[in-house]
Amino acid sequence: KTQYVHEYVNQVFETVKKRNPNEVEFQQAVKEVFYSLVPVLENNPQYIKQAILERIVEPDRIISFKVSWVDDHGNVKVNRGFRVQFSNHIGPYKGGLRFHPSVNASIIKFLGFEQIFKNSLTGQPIGGGKGGSDFDPKGKSDAEIMRFCQAFMTELSKYIGPDVDVPAGDIGVGAREIGYMFGQYKKLRGAYEAGVLTGKGIGYGGSLGRKEATGYGTVYFVEEMLKDAGASFNGSTVVVSGSGNVSIYAMEKAMQLGAKVVACSDSNGYIYDKDGINLATVKRLKEVEHKRISEYVNEYPDAIYMEGYTGIWSIPCDIALPCATQNEIDENSAALLVSNGVKAVGEGANMPSTLEAIDIFLDNNVLFAPAKAANAGGVAVSALEMAQNSARQYWTLEEVDGKLHDIMKNIYTKSKQAAQEYGAAGNLVIGANIAGFVKVADAMIEQGI
Ligand code: GLU
Repeated sequence: KTQYVHEYVNQVFETVKKRNPNEVEFQQAVKEVFYSLVPVLENNPQYIKQAILERIVEPDRIISFKVSWVDDHGNVKVNRGFRVQFSNHIGPYKGGLRFHPSVNASIIKFLGFEQIFKNSLTGQPIGGGKGGSDFDPKGKSDAEIMRFCQAFMTELSKYIGPDVDVPAGDIGVGAREIGYMFGQYKKLRGAYEAGVLTGKGIGYGGSLGRKEATGYGTVYFVEEMLKDAGASFNGSTVVVSGSGNVSIYAMEKAMQLGAKVVACSDSNGYIYDKDGINLATVKRLKEVEHKRISEYVNEYPDAIYMEGYTGIWSIPCDIALPCATQNEIDENSAALLVSNGVKAVGEGANMPSTLEAIDIFLDNNVLFAPAKAANAGGVAVSALEMAQNSARQYWTLEEVDGKLHDIMKNIYTKSKQAAQEYGAAGNLVIGANIAGFVKVADAMIEQGI
């Protein structure tokens, strides 16, 4: 039976490769999920009969549009915008927008595909989608960012709505960009539909705790995983890549739990401060002054700055939290982390470890918290923001953070139990994929084709 199911998965995956040629990131994300589902498909032939894999891997629609805007010198610029709507079986399409020069169909599709399972794991009523643009916000003026966001939303507004598709932030999109896009959407609709976007400013419908949610959530998840192994953040040495929203609040929560965070990075390089990073300085440099992380060493001459962002994984640590971007840990970095004695890895970014890197961690008994489960806190609090908007209410920070903490504990328990149930005890990659998948697959069957 296993052999038969394996061949079936091979066959579906071949079709995915044929239909999505050269889309390496998308193929990687699909491969990881599909092969982990073999034990579920063995026990549930209805998923094969109902062609759930074939259906779930094909987005409902892929929207691609032109975004033309005018820069500060009066020159017209053209970018490409995307929105991929994957699945709305358990709620409206939900997922962030990424503005980064690397954005293409493959990147948006891998992110949208992962979002289906992540959103399902949160237990909240949200489907899966993702969008973005190859626009590079780096070095752009505030006025240019605004004009781009307005032009982007002019097109995107045709496809979204509080009960249809609810975008939020991702790399390159924070509260400022969401604000400009919300303003434009409001003008176009002539109505105050607060729930159309999440990650809004606190004064006009945003949720307290949303900014911190992905980073805090990752640490809450890893804390549960460590607890099960008789360990904790307290007294541990931690390396956190990135210095954006996810990274900063992962560092903050890890520090609150007694960890020493010795390194973080941006796309140019990393800093190493053996006595522990001063987070207030990183926050000011990145959130207020929008400077490069290299500036840190001007203020802390004992700290070290190194060019290149993958070098950060050569620093010995107990816990590694990749919070920068996809495939930032390859097999060499994984092997280096293992040989330097890493005990746990928690993925704050989306798909930060390559398939080979994951195998190295699992083969060496490193506790491994996969992105779909570990970084689900951001989108979970986005769903809480939608709930507050629908109810025309504001919840306190304590209330939101308490719910986030419960959600992350639940995701951990669900993932752990699913792994046990399907003969892969201790493997949270398999557990998270299965737990996320089953709920969506059952909804698909119940709703008919
Ligand atoms: N971009 C985040 C993610 O990868 C958040 C998405 C959202 O809040 O909708 O899950």
